[in-house]
Amino acid sequence: MNIYLISDDASAVLMQPLVAYIQPFFSTSVRFHIRPYTGELKSYWTWEELFAVGHREKVGSLLPPGEHYFFFLFHGSNEFNWFGSLNPEEPNVGFLQSRGWENFGFSDPVYPLAYHLMTLVTAMKFFGRDHNLDFYHEVSRGCMFDFTEVRAEVRFKLQSAHVCPECLSKIAGNTSDRLATMDYVQRLLSLFRSVRDYMFPIDLQEYFGELDYRLVIEQDAALVLLVENHKITLPISNGKEKALFITLLKHENGLTYKDFERDSVLKEFLLVYYNYFVNQGSFDSLYRQAKQQIEDRTFRKQLEPLISRMRKKLQETLAAYPHISEALSIHSRQGTLLVPLQRKRLNDNLNKSQLRVG
Ligand SMILES: [Zn+2]
Repeated sequence: MNIYLISDDASAVLMQPLVAYIQPFFSTSVRFHIRPYTGELKSYWTWEELFAVGHREKVGSLLPPGEHYFFFLFHGSNEFNWFGSLNPEEPNVGFLQSRGWENFGFSDPVYPLAYHLMTLVTAMKFFGRDHNLDFYHEVSRGCMFDFTEVRAEVRFKLQSAHVCPECLSKIAGNTSDRLATMDYVQRLLSLFRSVRDYMFPIDLQEYFGELDYRLVIEQDAALVLLVENHKITLPISNGKEKALFITLLKHENGLTYKDFERDSVLKEFLLVYYNYFVNQGSFDSLYRQAKQQIEDRTFRKQLEPLISRMRKKLQETLAAYPHISEALSIHSRQGTLLVPLQRKRLNDNLNKSQLRVG
């Protein structure tokens, strides 16, 4: 499937972010092509003029076999004041209005544009051959095909992130490839839900207030998060992973990968690892091995997967507490790895225990 986005000057800046946002939701079989509009710029467009832009691109291109959809994204206003439409006479050609979303309180037009673009593509793909626009619901029901004549109802539509049973039945009835269509609709719904989550984020802290929490490093190097009266064991594996996390906790301003190759930090990291997680061998041999890896430039490659694994596990475990998740996750700022947790929320009992320096 090829989607051509022809944009006027004012809309051009939105095209890269729009494609970058939508593309990951769909397989590589959905291809976007960005084209500049080089004709006369207008502040008011008739539908005939809007459809003519997509039509010109279509007839002027050498198209390989496959599906091709053409959209003109423009900044002006349009004849019937629609957000966008396909041309019933030529249903793989349409337009999308790129301005005015701030009037509905939507500060970033990329999200409503992504929603409406893929809604129109879906209409073109499954309802286009009917040569009319009667797939729209006149009364809003929270479906992608709500007509939203009362424009403010667009908010309800976007928040619903839904395709109603009637439209799903019609889509299912209009396909000869059930597997591909199910895959497409699933991806479309994922996109809609993402648009909803970006546009209407819910911050539970606004309602429940700030949670009191602190992180305790126990004497045996266990990492325990105390949230209100609950204990949550952080999902960080014993071994190098935990030694790395603890080393980062001890450096409030963060550490670069290069810092870990410095003797002082390297020893600090290896000591935590050796003292709490290693049962045999000497510290010296561990240290020499690390020095060798630094020389061979393989040391950093060992740390990177530990960082990404910890990030993922922390995010999953703390999903219900985004503020705590943010404070405890490992951020990367200009090459510096850091855990932004306020250190007054950290009880570090590690140094109070007996260090076994070998
Ligand atoms: Zn519907």
